[in-house]
Amino acid sequence: MNEIKAPKGTRDIFAPEIHKWHYLENAIHAYYKKFLYQEIRTPIFEHSELFSRGIGSETEVVQKEMYTFTDKSDRSLTLRPENTASVVRAAIENNLFENLVPLRFYYLGPMFRYDKPQKGRYRQFQQFGVEVFADDSPQVDAEVIFSAVDFLKKLEIESVQLDLNSVGCPQCRPAYLEVLKKAARAEESKLCADCRRKIDGNPLRIFDCKQPACAEAAGRFPVIGDHLCAECREHFVAVREALSWMNVPFVLNPRLVRGLDYYTKTAFEVTSGQLGAQNALLGGGRYNNLIKELGGPDMAGIGFAAGMERIILHLEHLELPGRKILFVAYGDPQWLAHAVQLAEVLREEGYPVYLDYQGKNLKKQFKKADRVAAAFTLLLAEDEIRSSSVSVKNMATQEQIKIPLKDLNAWLKENF
Ligand code: AMP
Repeated sequence: MNEIKAPKGTRDIFAPEIHKWHYLENAIHAYYKKFLYQEIRTPIFEHSELFSRGIGSETEVVQKEMYTFTDKSDRSLTLRPENTASVVRAAIENNLFENLVPLRFYYLGPMFRYDKPQKGRYRQFQQFGVEVFADDSPQVDAEVIFSAVDFLKKLEIESVQLDLNSVGCPQCRPAYLEVLKKAARAEESKLCADCRRKIDGNPLRIFDCKQPACAEAAGRFPVIGDHLCAECREHFVAVREALSWMNVPFVLNPRLVRGLDYYTKTAFEVTSGQLGAQNALLGGGRYNNLIKELGGPDMAGIGFAAGMERIILHLEHLELPGRKILFVAYGDPQWLAHAVQLAEVLREEGYPVYLDYQGKNLKKQFKKADRVAAAFTLLLAEDEIRSSSVSVKNMATQEQIKIPLKDLNAWLKENF
């Protein structure tokens, strides 16, 4: 029979890599609680319309990358390609805007995009991200950015660059887009077919194109920074000032744009020198129009999303604590019940304990203890049962001592 493989662009995660995931997930929970973020879990699939409205029907994600399907009741559903639209939807639907203070969320979980798979780019990938609502202060932008960079620093990921820009707002961006379209049309013959198509629909996205000819032409295009309205300009100055209070270095990148239509004002991206072509670790920005666009109140929002696989690729240095295991062995099947009960007591105390139900004899059990790399084997045989004790064998040194059962926990606390 044909072997069934995992779908292209997906991957299985297991030991030892899974330990890095646990470490990263725990770090996210611990770090973001310090800023009063609350975890939110939203469905893996949503009505397709949420993403076409929330992300923008002109974007690459919506046009080319969504996993959209029709369910048995003919509804169009989509596996979430990102989570901001879902968090906003959840906040509106559950009245969180009225009932929760402060309105700060973090999330982690799988996202789905029909992207071309390569190292660091998958069709199912994990993101963690944060969203802060109802605060348009530039200092919040700075705090969100600080938290992203500081979190990476706490993971000892420091070879990163923070790029910063302002993408304007509905007051100033339309006029800029006209100027940009004009400049792009003048260089149309030099652009790739994809970018030529973007001129009318989404000219900002030309800045994202990696084709050398397009990048060269885009280098001559006017930049949004020269076309910001007074409010956007002041906001941007204040964000930069607050970042300097927080000692966050950044590079001004006037050509940094975000692929999603709802972004306003601050846009940022953190890249890593350690990754190849897929070097973006996280990206985010302000989206003051999204909540209203999705039927909620006219309320500000800012957030970012980080690629967890790409962070994991940076955790090579991580020294994970070795797995320490206790193995309970029984000298004869008649002592199995005692062994089961001892294992239970030890697990209650919090120790990882294994016992081999198939162990026909002690030799086989000790072999198994070696294979699971047990630190100690605790042996119960006739002598131990009679004296209410246990023989403890150090698997590394082969030393063995007998300990009264009542003293075992104290002994393990000291020696395990
Ligand atoms: P975005 O939602 O496109 O702003 O992406 C935010 C972050 O998610 C990026 O900086 C990447 O680290 C990560 N990311 C996006 N797409 C993928 C993908 N297909 N595979 C793995 N990580 C991704």
